[in-house]
Amino acid sequence: MRIRHLPETLINQIAAGEVIERPAAAVKELVENSIDAGATRIDVALEQGGKTGLIIDDDGIGMNREELSAALDRHATSKLLDDDLTHISSLGFRGEALPSIAAVARMDIQTKTEDDQHGWEITVEGGQRSDIKPSARQKGTRIAVRDLFYATPARLKFLKTERSEYLAVKEVLLRLAMAYPDIAFTLSHNGATKLSFARQAARLDDSASSESDKIDPKLKRLAEAMGKDFQNNAMPIDVAREEEGIRLSGFASLPTYHKGNALSQYLFVNGRPVRDRLILGCIRAAYSDVLHRDRHPLAALFLDLPPEDVDINVHPAKTEVRFRNAQRIRGLIITALQHAIHAHSRTASTTVAQDTLRAFKPEQQSYNSGSSFPPAFSSFGGGHRPQPISHGAAQAVLDQWAPQARFEENAFAPLPSSTQDMPPITGAYHDQQPEQEETHYRLGTARAQLHETYIVSQTQDGLILVDQHAAHERLVYEKIKAQMAAEGVKRQSLLIPEIIEMDSDDIDRLMDQQSALEDMGLVIDRFGPDAVAFREVPALLGRKVNASQILRDLMDELNDLDSTDSLKERLFAVCSTMACHGSIRAGRRLNLEEMNSLLRQMEDTPFSGQCNHGRPTYVSLSLADIEKLFGRRE
Ligand code: ADP
Ligand code: MG
Repeated sequence: MRIRHLPETLINQIAAGEVIERPAAAVKELVENSIDAGATRIDVALEQGGKTGLIIDDDGIGMNREELSAALDRHATSKLLDDDLTHISSLGFRGEALPSIAAVARMDIQTKTEDDQHGWEITVEGGQRSDIKPSARQKGTRIAVRDLFYATPARLKFLKTERSEYLAVKEVLLRLAMAYPDIAFTLSHNGATKLSFARQAARLDDSASSESDKIDPKLKRLAEAMGKDFQNNAMPIDVAREEEGIRLSGFASLPTYHKGNALSQYLFVNGRPVRDRLILGCIRAAYSDVLHRDRHPLAALFLDLPPEDVDINVHPAKTEVRFRNAQRIRGLIITALQHAIHAHSRTASTTVAQDTLRAFKPEQQSYNSGSSFPPAFSSFGGGHRPQPISHGAAQAVLDQWAPQARFEENAFAPLPSSTQDMPPITGAYHDQQPEQEETHYRLGTARAQLHETYIVSQTQDGLILVDQHAAHERLVYEKIKAQMAAEGVKRQSLLIPEIIEMDSDDIDRLMDQQSALEDMGLVIDRFGPDAVAFREVPALLGRKVNASQILRDLMDELNDLDSTDSLKERLFAVCSTMACHGSIRAGRRLNLEEMNSLLRQMEDTPFSGQCNHGRPTYVSLSLADIEKLFGRRE
């Protein structure tokens, strides 16, 4: 057997297999090159999803003759100034993309620098280069790639339909565009313009003349990529750990604005779009309290940290990263999100009022002939729908962890299980004279109860409709949580400790968390080398628990994330189910005093803008909205 050195073209084709698996990957590499070249405008044109043609045109610094020649050599890059892989500040650094693409396609490059009299161009087909010739090109670079993978037919077979290749390119471009608002981007497909994002100049604070100038340019770009509703329902995130050089910025949606999947959760690390499970876990943990498990907030978070704290050389396509201190990053993200959620805890999303308005608006009625419902009762329109009541998640936890547990209304005595237990309000509310009070309260003065379910309240400049059950549920839940925080989780010991055999490494990991677990009501001891003893459990769960299930869930979480969030999250889920059971049912008649008492408590309670399932607890209509409804206003 003779060992032979592979020819250059073959080496490049092999590399292309890793770096360029489909048109979207080629577009990603080429657009990243344009960004690294300081472009302020990048135009992408595709034919047939990029399969037969893709062109990237930029106004960046361009290349001179020597640079153009070197750019096509393997492992040749202008971006690693020294031999230090720990200080990478550009998107590219591997020097692989151009030679790889050129080895499997027909590539045509035209480029010109500021200083050169004229530009240069070269053609490469399946790795074979033409001579470099002068070109009439203006400053910048245009790279046209035709017939991707024509030289590697096996790979060609794996390409998907034109539409799905196109969609993958679009997603890649959207992500890069989100991270670089100061670059204009366009995308066209088979001659039709698909995206056109203007350059968002950095904001000059005082010169903002129109309303739209006041919006953060970053958010404007995010709105172009993620939808206008995101802009209207986004909370700004901005925290820094100066001593460590870490900053987290960006936007995340209000808990009342969410989707059925987690696809709109984006993370950018040092300007690089990455897919990281870390971020998904952080977002879930941060919102666990205010959102049903099946719903997902939207977010675009930008993490900037010293290059030496993150390894981006984990994956050839550079879409994964590894953090030196993942735990700290995780803590930072969760805390930042929770602070934002807390700061906005009394705001319900604008879509709620808009949806209400839309539902009422005559022109929005979809009166199909069969429907007998008047328009006011038609369901909310738009993409964002309030969740139907579902206790599925919490109930499932209980079923798994403590199948015998039964809810009892007074399990949480002395918590209020009805409004009778709420603090009485002195004197102010009598049916005859609420007028004097109404301007004082944010949630106004209760005027009526409708259908034994909704409270109508008059505010200074409009009206509020409260879902009494949802609102009360949130109040009870917050009380339970406050109690847990103040007094710790109540524990109770099992009659006979349960012994569970486990892998000794797993036991070590569990024991590392012993005190955190105790805070959450779980007392576990080592029992010989390969077993643990379950001694005490959260009182919430009752005495008959499924200890091995709890342990299995805990170990999953520990292996995944090194934290005990799932236990906390699930305990909260249980609380939330308890809260439901202890709350005023819809259908209970309330007098004005009780209604006002509920409103006052909502004003004092964090997160009172939504129930535990992320549904709004109230909607408000301003007088201006009402006037619009009746055509008194445009
Ligand atoms: P890398 O980006 O990792 O350096 P590439 O193969 O993608 O490797 O590109 C090789 C080199 O070609 C880059 O380092 C850069 O100097 C040059 N280059 C590529 N694209 C452009 C562009 N659009 N404008 C200017 N220079 C470019
Ligand atoms: Mg590159």
